Amino acid sequence: VYNFSAGPAMLPESVLQQACDEMLDWRGSGMCVAEMSHRGKEYMSIAAEAEADLRELLNVPNNYKVLFLQGGASSQFAAVPMNLLRGGSSADYINTGSWSKKAISEARHYCSNVNVAATTEESKFTRAPVPAEIQLSGDAAYLHYTPNETIEGVEFAYIPETGGCPLVADMSSTLLSRPIDISRFGLIYAGAQKNIGPAGLTIVIVREDLIGMPIAGTPTMFDYKIHADNDSMYNTPATYAWYLAGLVFKWLKDLGGLDAMAIINQRKAALLYNAIDSSSFYANPVQPTDRSWMNVPFTLANPALDDAFLKGAKAANLTTLKGHRSVGGMRASIYNAMPEAGVAALVEFMREFERTQG
Ligand code: PLP
Repeated sequence: VYNFSAGPAMLPESVLQQACDEMLDWRGSGMCVAEMSHRGKEYMSIAAEAEADLRELLNVPNNYKVLFLQGGASSQFAAVPMNLLRGGSSADYINTGSWSKKAISEARHYCSNVNVAATTEESKFTRAPVPAEIQLSGDAAYLHYTPNETIEGVEFAYIPETGGCPLVADMSSTLLSRPIDISRFGLIYAGAQKNIGPAGLTIVIVREDLIGMPIAGTPTMFDYKIHADNDSMYNTPATYAWYLAGLVFKWLKDLGGLDAMAIINQRKAALLYNAIDSSSFYANPVQPTDRSWMNVPFTLANPALDDAFLKGAKAANLTTLKGHRSVGGMRASIYNAMPEAGVAALVEFMREFERTQG
């Protein structure tokens, strides 16, 4: 089955196979990883190796902490202002869709002046702003944006300038899809359940000088410094999800790292967008320069055929193609673990459906 879910999403088959092989006895320990103490030497080695591999894949500079947390990207909507305001009262946010909006409304609980530096709501979130549209407030503690809007399928083709303040990015649906220059960012966060591993794990990559001054009343569990000082083991981490993420990192390294992954991801996206654009039966509303490599929403010319499309797709082993309830239509999420053959099978099904029903 090719599963086009936006998350939790497909995991590489070889990763699942290895997890199965190691399920009852992890490397002679006689235990499943899920049964291990997070403070035992076996688990500590799994955790440390996963962090080292992630650092290598993303080329994370030494002055950044990599945290393996819980609470999802949604918790980071609060943790970011709690930790990064650092005495300031103003933060800039770019609004490009559903997830930006959630980040903005959560920030308003902690930050008296949330400046929406740019919004593309007037276009129904079918594009990213151009750099000239971004109006920075000048005194913001940070600029927050969502490089890939998972629901609308809109992606930034550039990294915004901040005028000197730290740049914060919700990379939930784009981290590990291609190489990035970490040094351009103050903080990056991502829920794991798309490109990283199973749900339950949240990755935060943060520049060291930004942590250690949380606002008064910040819960201990939301204080990055506490997690950094305790190697993400202040409390019991999401041990099994962390282990599986580590297997995904090995898989990515074996594949040739993020340069190789980016080429494959670009090929998959091009195949699907070309199929949509070359047909008058399917449409994608996003401005071509800002189309996501990861999440491809599309509509049928006749929405009355949506149910038949989904049913036929399921029968062809192509699942979870229904668009998000807020935008309708279809959405194919084609994260790292979706093989090229899966996208090819979807394109073939789309052509056949159009031929017989269109
Ligand atoms: N941000 C983005 C861009 C997302 O795609 C998602 C989930 O789909 C979230 C935030 C919320 O993540 P979580 O469910 O891990 O809180």
